[in-house]
Amino acid sequence: MKYSINDFPDKNGFYGKYGGSFLSPEMNEEFQRINDFYQRIRNDAEFIDELKYIRKHYQGRPTPITFAKNLTDKLGGAAIYLKREDLNHTGAHKLNHAMAYGLVAKKMGKTKIIADTGAGQHGVAMAAAAAYFGMECDIYMGKIDAEKEAPNVDRMKIMGTNVIVVEDGAGKLIDAAAASFAAYEKDYERCFYPIGSALGPAPIPQMVRDFQSIVGKEAREQFAEMTDGKMPNKVIAVVGGGSNAMGLFSGFIDNDDIELLAAEALGKMREGEEERVGEHAATATFGEFRTMSGFKSLALAEEDGTPKPAYSVASGLDYPGLGPELAYLKEIGRIKFNAINDEEAIDAFYDLSKAEGIIPALESSHALALAMKMAPSHPGETFLVNLSGRGDKDIEFVLNNFDK
Ligand SMILES: *Cc1c(COP(=O)(O)O)cnc(C)c1O
Repeated sequence: MKYSINDFPDKNGFYGKYGGSFLSPEMNEEFQRINDFYQRIRNDAEFIDELKYIRKHYQGRPTPITFAKNLTDKLGGAAIYLKREDLNHTGAHKLNHAMAYGLVAKKMGKTKIIADTGAGQHGVAMAAAAAYFGMECDIYMGKIDAEKEAPNVDRMKIMGTNVIVVEDGAGKLIDAAAASFAAYEKDYERCFYPIGSALGPAPIPQMVRDFQSIVGKEAREQFAEMTDGKMPNKVIAVVGGGSNAMGLFSGFIDNDDIELLAAEALGKMREGEEERVGEHAATATFGEFRTMSGFKSLALAEEDGTPKPAYSVASGLDYPGLGPELAYLKEIGRIKFNAINDEEAIDAFYDLSKAEGIIPALESSHALALAMKMAPSHPGETFLVNLSGRGDKDIEFVLNNFDK
């Protein structure tokens, strides 16, 4: 089925049966106000120009595409190209939506950011955006995450952000998210609540996809320029909630003959095994249709929306939900999901580092692992992989646990 980004979501924020906004009446009204405001400015020339300026002069865009020649030669199959989102300021694609959120919040007259973060990458990106736009910023983080990701806590604090460590529950993202949303509900009139991926109540999935679409737009032009006007055969990205994937895919989705492949986290499991709850974060493979966190999508959750535990070696993938647009694209067959486990991701982390001198984030290593798995059996093809972030944050953890 032909899918055009411009046709989705519908006016109620749905992609087929996925999406929408299921909050308290008061919060639904606030999200409706955000939606009305966003639909007004999203095509406004001034907003677009301001964002362009920030992308170029603050973030360091455009990020290049690198042809991974050594890795390609080593694998002896498809040619692998990398979209270098690791070169964004603060180290990942997350700054693409963080800066745009900041600009929207500022234009709405908000003075404070309230958000939650798992590994701390979204928190660091929002802390940078808050500093840039001169806004107050409270970031909620689970106790376990805050200990594991201490350098990111320090980064946020240095940039003037107030980090609130949440002791409840398992001390992870889902607990931090409950605490941050409760704080936001009490103070929403002056606050903005940016969600860290292409998920949540409408209009957030659309906003994040739009804000990330710069990745696909640049990549399409750059890839054509590098290959005498050709397009890649396969475009590959990792999916936690779906922001970097929707960003890159949006640039190629109109061409039905370009395959879009998503890698999700199989964690400690192996391909073809029966599900072991709590040992993976493969929401597209094992998730069910649920209403969780204020929207409908595939999720690892009980029937009443209570989340089940998720796990991945990559903290940024350790989440039980999936963006509604991706769930719909899976349903109509436009995107194929593949699950990549911890071991495959760690191998890809080392392989890219050694072959190209580029240390990828463990999240991005899942996309890379999928490309590396498929490359030998697809000679003559070209694969474009979203290298969503850099691996500096993971070095200590990898060396302590998987030293090779
Ligand atoms: C957060 C993160 C991801 C996963 O989030 P998406 O919204 O699915 O993109 C992937 N890669 C990196 C580097 C991240 O920080």
